[in-house]
Amino acid sequence: MKENIYPLPSPNLKKYLVDHELNNQEVEFLNEVLEKVSLIPLGGLGEIGKNMMAVRYGDNILVIDSGLMFPEEEMLGVDMVIPDISYLQENRDMVKGILLTHGHEDHIGALPYVLKDINVPVYGTKLTLGLLDHKLKEKNIKGTVLNTVKPRDVVKIGVFTVEFIKVSHSIPDAVAIAVKTPIGTILHTGDFKIDQTPVDEDVTDFHRLSQLGKEGVLVLLSDSTNVERPGFTMSERSVGVTFEETFGKIKERIIVATFASNVHRVQQVISTAVKFDRRVAIVGRSMVNVVKISKELGYLNYPEGTLVELDEIKELPPEKVVVLTTGSQGEPMSALTRMANSDHRQLSIMPGDTVIVSATPIPGNEKYVSRIIDNLFKQGAEVIYESFSGIHVSGHPSQEELKLMLNLTKPKYFIPVHGEYRHLIKHAELAEEVGIPRENIFVVENGQVIDFTSDTGRTNGRVTAGRVLVDGLGVGDVGNIVLRDRRLLSQDGILIVVITMDKENGSIVAGPDIVSRGFVYVRESEELMEDAKVKVRLALEKCEEKQITEWSTIKSNVREILGRYLYEKTRRRPMILPIIMEV
Ligand SMILES: [Zn+2]
Ligand SMILES: [Zn+2]
Repeated sequence: MKENIYPLPSPNLKKYLVDHELNNQEVEFLNEVLEKVSLIPLGGLGEIGKNMMAVRYGDNILVIDSGLMFPEEEMLGVDMVIPDISYLQENRDMVKGILLTHGHEDHIGALPYVLKDINVPVYGTKLTLGLLDHKLKEKNIKGTVLNTVKPRDVVKIGVFTVEFIKVSHSIPDAVAIAVKTPIGTILHTGDFKIDQTPVDEDVTDFHRLSQLGKEGVLVLLSDSTNVERPGFTMSERSVGVTFEETFGKIKERIIVATFASNVHRVQQVISTAVKFDRRVAIVGRSMVNVVKISKELGYLNYPEGTLVELDEIKELPPEKVVVLTTGSQGEPMSALTRMANSDHRQLSIMPGDTVIVSATPIPGNEKYVSRIIDNLFKQGAEVIYESFSGIHVSGHPSQEELKLMLNLTKPKYFIPVHGEYRHLIKHAELAEEVGIPRENIFVVENGQVIDFTSDTGRTNGRVTAGRVLVDGLGVGDVGNIVLRDRRLLSQDGILIVVITMDKENGSIVAGPDIVSRGFVYVRESEELMEDAKVKVRLALEKCEEKQITEWSTIKSNVREILGRYLYEKTRRRPMILPIIMEV
C-alpha cells in the first residue's frame, strides 16, 4: 500500500487497508463516511471581532456566538461588519441552535441579522440574553426562543449535549461552552481571563474545567486576543483600587469614559462614586442601555438615588459629580468626542474637570483617541489615560493564563481562535510549549473546515466565509465596487458632465454642463471648467467623425479625454460621470 496522507482512526481499519491495498481516493472515501465531528469557523479567526464557530456532527449543526466587527477605516460609510452565513443558509435545516458565551457585541452583535434568516433557539446566560433581547426588540425581530442557562447547566440539543462553564471576563455571566459529541468533547473558552478576585466574586470554574480535562477534551478552542502579553492579566479589582486612590485626590468633577459593555468597570466606577459621596450621571445611548438592563437583572448594585439625570448635575457642586460616558475609543458620534469638541448639547468640559479614559484603544483607534485627549486638554481638563497604569486592565488572558487553560483541560487537539493571524500563531507556539504536539494544533482561517475523529484531526476543504457589510438598512449590498467608488469619491471628488443630444442626428442640443463636488473650488476654477467643456465637445466631435453612435463608447471617450486633461492640469483624478440625455 502507498503511504497515505490521511491518518486513519482504528488499528483494525489500518490493517484492513493494508490487506486490501486501498488507494488514497478510497481511503478518503472511507474517511468521509466514518464518524467525524467538523469544526467550521465562520468568523473571529485572523481578525478581532465577528466571532462565530459552527460545530457539525452528521446533519446536526450548533453555532457558538454570532458577533459583529466594527468597520475598518477603508470601509467608508459602513456601520458594521457581520459574518457571511452562506454555509448556515445552505444547511439551514441542520442548524439546531445558537449558543452564546457572553454579551459583548463581537459575540452577539450579528444575531439580529442571523436570526432574521435562521430562526433557531438561542442559549445563553441571563445577562447575555437580556442584552440580546433588547437588540432584537430594537430591530423588531420577534418569535425567537431564548433559553436561559446557568453555569454547570447541561442541555441536550439535537445529538449534542452542551454544558456551560463559568469563566471570568470583563462582563458578568460569561461562560465557556463544552459541546459533547459522539466523537468527543469540543471545549470553547469564549473570552476569558483567570481573575482570582473578580468584581462579581464569581471565579472561573477551574474545578469543572479540570474535571472536563480528566474526562477527556478532544478539541480546545481558546481566546488568543492577548497572547502577546507575558505573565498574568491583572485582576479587574485592581482597577477599583486605582479608582479609589484617584477619586480621593480629585476635588472637582470626574468624567469616566469606558466601554458600556464592561459592566464590571461600570460597577467599580459607581461604587467608588458612592464611597466618595458623589452622584453619577450616565451619558451615551449604549451606556444608558447596558446600565439599565444590568441593573434590572441584578448585575449592577448601587443604592437608590445614586444615579442622576444629566441636567441635574448643574445643581450639584462639582465635587459631588461623576459622569460615566461612552467614547473611550474616540468614536466620532460618542458623547466624549462631542464634549471634547464642545459640541455636546447638555455637557461641556470645564477647567478643573478630570477625565479618566478607562480603556485601551482597539488597534486602529489610537489616533482618534489621542485626538480626543488633546482636545480635552485644550478645553482645560486634566486627562488620565492609558499610559498611567492601573486605570484599565484587559478582560482577556495573558500567556500564563492561556497555558493554565491548556494544562487544566489537557486537550488532544487545539485550535487558537479570537485573534489576528499572528495571535493565532503565537498561541499555537504556547500550546506546543505546554506539550501539545505540533501536528495536533490547527492554525486555520475563517471557512476552513477541520474534521476530527476520536484520534485524528485534519483540515478538509473550505466553505464560504467572509465579511458582510451593513450600511443603514442595507445588509450585504455594499461590496467591493461600492467601496471602491466611495474611495475614489473621497480622494478626488466627482465631475458630472451633462449633454443633451438630438435623437435624430446626434447633434448637441444643450450643454455640455459640468457639475463637480469635492474636486476643485469651482468659483476659482472657472477657466478650468470652461476648458473642460471644450474638451468634452472635442471628444463628441471625434465620435461624430468616426460615426460612433454607441452611447457607452461616447461616454468612455468623454471620460478618457476629459480625464487626461484634468490630470494634466491638476494632477487629480476625479470620478467622471457623463450623462447623455436624448431629445
Ligand atoms: Zn468579550
Ligand atoms: Zn470577544
